[in-house]
Amino acid sequence: MQSKEDVFELLGERIDQLVSLDIASRNVIHLLYYFARSKMQYPLAMSAARLLKERVKPGDYVLLGTGWPDRPHVTPKIAETDGPPGAVSLARALHLGLGAVPIILIEEHLVSATEKVLEATGLRVVSAEEALKAHHYHAPIHAAAVIGFPSEFDQAEQVSDFLINNFKPSAVIVIEKGGVNEKREIHTSRGAETTKWMAKIDVLIERAAEKGIATIGIGDGGNEIGMGNIKEKIQQHIPYGSECRCGCGGGIAPVNKVDVLVAASISNWGAYGIAACLAALCNDIHVFHNAEIEERVLKRSADVSFIDGITGFVDASADGLRWPIHTAFVTLLRETVVQALNSINKLEANSLFEQK
Ligand SMILES: [Zn+2]
Repeated sequence: MQSKEDVFELLGERIDQLVSLDIASRNVIHLLYYFARSKMQYPLAMSAARLLKERVKPGDYVLLGTGWPDRPHVTPKIAETDGPPGAVSLARALHLGLGAVPIILIEEHLVSATEKVLEATGLRVVSAEEALKAHHYHAPIHAAAVIGFPSEFDQAEQVSDFLINNFKPSAVIVIEKGGVNEKREIHTSRGAETTKWMAKIDVLIERAAEKGIATIGIGDGGNEIGMGNIKEKIQQHIPYGSECRCGCGGGIAPVNKVDVLVAASISNWGAYGIAACLAALCNDIHVFHNAEIEERVLKRSADVSFIDGITGFVDASADGLRWPIHTAFVTLLRETVVQALNSINKLEANSLFEQK
């Protein structure tokens, strides 16, 4: 007979199938997912959710790094809609499901835009210290923080040490963030160098790994932090994997590894997949956001000038898919979790009946 454990594993498989659906026809996720999955016995998003559930206790800080400065040669102020919506939705799920105090890390000049996107989830933006006070407050207040993270390596070291020593986070999650290769250079998936503009979250991941803090990486192109788990495969099989166009000689394959790598067709979807798995593990569908929140988050992202990285438009859109596709996707994930939770309830009711 099927056990609750079986249901979670099969649900994890279905969620991985959904988050790796290549609707935008980018023709790379089938490889990345296969490589990432070959390293793991268990579905990816559910593995990440299980790790978080095991490590994150109520009142713990969780750091979520995101943000991709796009078209920086035009102006470094431009950034894209894949990443921040995933980070804020997962922050919401971590808060509701595990009682975590989320801190989003992003380039300094994107902090105020990201604060507005975060509030579209219903979380009130306050300082990190205030967010912890909110956790203990007697009246409901759902809070989170956004902190600027430097793009210079030496400053990134200081800020990483400060964040780890001061907040003692139990997990660091990175969503769609360029990762350094063997030469400490960061690349776009099109093989161009973009090191200077990217917040150096790599340094934080390195520090977190040294301290035994749980690390999770989410990516969709093969050039993001966490893809170090499958570096050799990226070098062999992904365009520009071993030979980039910048001449550094390192290729786009990042070096830094994470405890769990979630490869998704759109990085936001990888974060949604983990949030959906958390909802299942917490036996509470409300831990996962819904279509209404998704629409608000994507529209807010356009309102604060994030662009779709594929189309180049300021739009409620991510990676070439407009908001109705993302709200439909969130609805599919939700229903998948609801059906699995129903089948667990039936299993438990049957076992109670058999005991009588
Ligand atoms: Zn290069």
